[in-house]
Amino acid sequence: MADPAFADDLKASIARRGPMRLDLFWLSSNHHYYASRDPLGAAGDFTTAPEISQVFGELLGLWSVAVWQAMGAPKRFALAELGPGRGTLMADALRAARLRPDFLAAGRVNFVETSPLMRAAQARLVPDAIWRKSWTELPKAPSIILANEFLDALPIRQFMRRGGAWTELHVDASLRPVELPAEDVPDIPYLQDEGAIAETSIDRNTLALLLGVHFRRQAGAALFIDYGHTVPGPGSTLQAVRAHTPTDPFAAPGACDLTAHIDFAALAKAARLGGAAVHGPVPQGAFLAALGIHDRTEALARANPDRAEALHEATRRLTAATEMGMLFKAMAICSPDLPPPPGFS
Ligand code: SAH
Repeated sequence: MADPAFADDLKASIARRGPMRLDLFWLSSNHHYYASRDPLGAAGDFTTAPEISQVFGELLGLWSVAVWQAMGAPKRFALAELGPGRGTLMADALRAARLRPDFLAAGRVNFVETSPLMRAAQARLVPDAIWRKSWTELPKAPSIILANEFLDALPIRQFMRRGGAWTELHVDASLRPVELPAEDVPDIPYLQDEGAIAETSIDRNTLALLLGVHFRRQAGAALFIDYGHTVPGPGSTLQAVRAHTPTDPFAAPGACDLTAHIDFAALAKAARLGGAAVHGPVPQGAFLAALGIHDRTEALARANPDRAEALHEATRRLTAATEMGMLFKAMAICSPDLPPPPGFS
C-alpha cells in the first residue's frame, strides 16, 4: 500500500531544503518501508532464498559449525545475523546445528534489525535472540555473522559523467530524479566516458571496513550473500520492487523496496583495508553445490516423497544459472589466520 502521508511529508521537507541526495531519500524510504510491513513471500513484494527452501538455512548452519571449529571452538561466541527477515534462515540453521550441542551452547544469537515488525516475526521463530539496532552494537567477541539480502537494502549514491564532470542523482520536491553537480566524488577513476554511471555505497563499504578491523582483533567470519557484480561500472542498478514487479523507485517512497547491486570488488577492497582476509565472491549456485545442496535435497525428497517435486524445484531456483545461481554471490570476510571457509576453497 502506498503511504500518501509519508510521501507528502517527504515532499514538504524537500521543498523546504532543496533536492535530496539519493542515499538520504533511500534511507528514509526504506526505513519507513521495513517498519510498516513484512515484505517477504508470495503476498509481499519479494521472496528470498530462506523463504524458498529450508535447505538454504540448514547449509548455512552447517557452514557456521565448520567455521566455529576452525576458530578453535570458542566457549562463547556471537552467532549474528544482519537483517534476518522472518528469522527463517536462523531457525533452519539452528535446527541443522543440533547435531553439535556444544556449538549451540556456546553461541548466542544476535539479530541486527531495525524494524519492530520484523523483530516480532523473528521472536516467534527464535525467541532467545538478542536484538540490536545496528551492527556497530555487536559484541566485541568471537563471532560468526550471516547476512542474506541485507547489503542490498543499504543506500547507494549514484554519479553520472556529464561534459567532463560528475553530477550526482538527487530527488526533487515532486519526487522526480534530478542531477546536480557533484560536490564530492568518491574514488571512481576507472570511469571517465561521457554518460558513464558510477554507484558507491558508504554504508556497505564502511561495514566491510569495520568488520575487517574487527576480525583482525577477534576471531570470526562474516558471510554475505546477495546479488551483485564482481567488476565495477556496469551502469545503473538502482531498482525498486513492489508485488514482485519492478516499479519507479521515486514514485511511492516508503511503499517499495529500494535496492541496488552489490559492488563486491569495493566491498572486498574495504574489508582487506581493515585487515581481514576475503574469500570469493563465488556464484550462489556453485557455493550451495559445494556445501552439498544436491545431496541434502535428495535425502529430504526421499524422506518426504509428497514434497519431492517442490524440494527439487526450490533447489533449482536457488542454483540454476538462469534463476538465482549466477546473479547471487557469496563472499566471506574472515580473520586472516582462518583457513578458507567451506564453499570457498
Ligand atoms: N535476510 C532475510 C530478509 C531480507 S530483507 C531473508 O533473506 O529473508 C532485509 C532485512 O533487513 C529486513 O529484515 C529488514 O527489516 C532489515 N533491514 C533493512 N535495513 C536495515 C538496517 N539498516 N539495519 C538493520 N536491518 C535492516
